[in-house]
Amino acid sequence: MHAPPHREAFAPTMSQCQSCGACCASFRVDFSVFESEAQGGRVPAALAVELNDTLCRMRGTDHARPRCAALYGRIGEKAQCGIYEWRPNPCREFEEGSEACGTARRRHGLTALPNA
Ligand code: SF4
Ligand code: SF4
Repeated sequence: MHAPPHREAFAPTMSQCQSCGACCASFRVDFSVFESEAQGGRVPAALAVELNDTLCRMRGTDHARPRCAALYGRIGEKAQCGIYEWRPNPCREFEEGSEACGTARRRHGLTALPNA
């Protein structure tokens, strides 16, 4: 579903994402096996749990208190995706300021962004 690198990690401009990371610690993140390094993709194999013939899941995102194993930093302070260049599509498509973004932020005690 989403990404800090939907945030630009440490880009000098923008974004609330660099001081957030909430979406990477709120939802399951499932993606095509073909995005996994093991199947010729770019998501590091150690971070991808294979669910079945078609789907992988980012490690840690299905825990009772989800937190992607690729996420560095502290939620709500400073956060960064450790595999920004190689993150799966759901992370690339997750939109800062979306309803889901607001849900994730509220879950971590942060206020939703104005357009969420
Ligand atoms: S891969 Fe990166 S952007 Fe995607 S959930 Fe994990 S830490 Fe977030
Ligand atoms: S929850 Fe929203 S603001 Fe926070 S990192 Fe994700 S997209 Fe960015």
